[in-house]
Amino acid sequence: MHTRRAQARSIGAVGVQGFRVAVVGSGPAGFYAAAALVASELAVEVDLIERLPTPWGLVRLGVAPDHPKIKAVSRAFEKTAQQPGFRFFGNVEIGRDVEHAELASLYDAVVYSVGAQTDRQLGIPGEDLPGSWPATAFVAWYNGHPDFQELAFDLSHERAVVIGNGNVALDVARMLALTPGELAPTDTTDAAIAAINEAGIREIVVVGRRGPVQAAWTPVEVGELGELAGADILVDPADLELDPASEAELEAAAPTVKRSIEHLREYAVRESAGKPRAIRLRFYSSPVAIHGEGKVEAIELVRNELVSGRAVSTGDTDLLSCGIVFRSVGYRGVPVPGVPFHEGSATIPNEGGRVEPGLYVAGWIKRGPSGVIGTNKKDATETVQLLLEDARGGLLPPRSDGTLEEVLEDKGIDAVVYAGWEAIDLAERTAGEPLGRPRVKLCGWDELLAAGRSA
Ligand code: NAP
Repeated sequence: MHTRRAQARSIGAVGVQGFRVAVVGSGPAGFYAAAALVASELAVEVDLIERLPTPWGLVRLGVAPDHPKIKAVSRAFEKTAQQPGFRFFGNVEIGRDVEHAELASLYDAVVYSVGAQTDRQLGIPGEDLPGSWPATAFVAWYNGHPDFQELAFDLSHERAVVIGNGNVALDVARMLALTPGELAPTDTTDAAIAAINEAGIREIVVVGRRGPVQAAWTPVEVGELGELAGADILVDPADLELDPASEAELEAAAPTVKRSIEHLREYAVRESAGKPRAIRLRFYSSPVAIHGEGKVEAIELVRNELVSGRAVSTGDTDLLSCGIVFRSVGYRGVPVPGVPFHEGSATIPNEGGRVEPGLYVAGWIKRGPSGVIGTNKKDATETVQLLLEDARGGLLPPRSDGTLEEVLEDKGIDAVVYAGWEAIDLAERTAGEPLGRPRVKLCGWDELLAAGRSA
């Protein structure tokens, strides 16, 4: 039975209790949205729904394991989870276990913060050959994502190629180059540590289609390349001879871009230290085809020139032998069944986070896959402000008297609640402690669900 409680509750809204909001997706955007909601004067009750048994999204499963300081943002999320009115429902997928319409009927509002769950394609021949991987799959694998543990990356070849000049490309290149000593204190999965330690890789070539000034990466990540224990960093000084337009772009650029260029200039004149591996940064090159008999054996690259800031092919190609290619050209959002989706931008169409009163978005599914973790705080806060505005204005559609627990029970779905995640967390940290590691991740669905349900 539907009631018009939403409208009734909006009258004299300050201090009124009982608004219920579902936030779907428990990465940074979802947690920042939840934090803003529970802290609002409407004392909103938030159910944070997640398809995995574990929260934190890319903070757990995307941020590189050798970046523990970045992962420490999860402490703020833990504080949010302790707030009255906050609940976590892991192992529940919207569109599979619960339909969007069903969810919308249970809550005054729904916020989707589901991120960008797949990768962008290059659209070149050979892209699907065995040995050509989306970087996102490799990242998910070494971070212990339960959907990616069956993948087998053949790292026996001497050369790996990473396409793209973003921070994910640098994460992948750096992870491939870490020494056993650098990997040991991280929460990289044991399988990935073993594979990287045993890898035959000698050179990792990171390929950018434009020049160093146009690269998307940030200076801290560029600077780290110069401090690796087991890998030299190689930059061709000729790639740093900028055309007048790039010179002007650099002059006008943010200090971050200038700092990245300073690092690259230093690398270009640095003597090789003869370390066992090398990361080579190659610019002005686009992949045109990946070649091989039944598996990746080489990548064909074309030399580009910059025309009005765009990479334009010169037609001058060369073949680089390699055994594995990681395509790191950005993430891409996927549709949520029953929710509008814009194919071009791969986002849910919205204005400032409002799709329509009662339906909202935050994070990468709202604005596309850009920015750092902190970017999502402002983004999610903007969304929540619109949601609260709609709530105060009595614009939220009515909801039923039902609850998510009833729906899940009817369907026989066993959610992992926050105490269940805490049990997983404790098990992982306990396993990591004697080894001097932050945690040893549980990374199979069965073991995660078993630990999560033990609570
Ligand atoms: P990104 O920053 O958008 O970089 C994508 C890269 O792919 C760009 O260099 C882009 O070049 C290139 N590219 C796109 N299409 C291409 C094509 N067809 N051929 C060749 N190159 C192509 O994406 P990302 O690295 O996936 O990172 C996603 C977001 O997460 C970013 O905001 C990033 O900063 C963030 N992140 C941050 C960290 C960190 O803070 N440590 C770590 C990982 C990720 P063009 O510029 O020419 O398009």
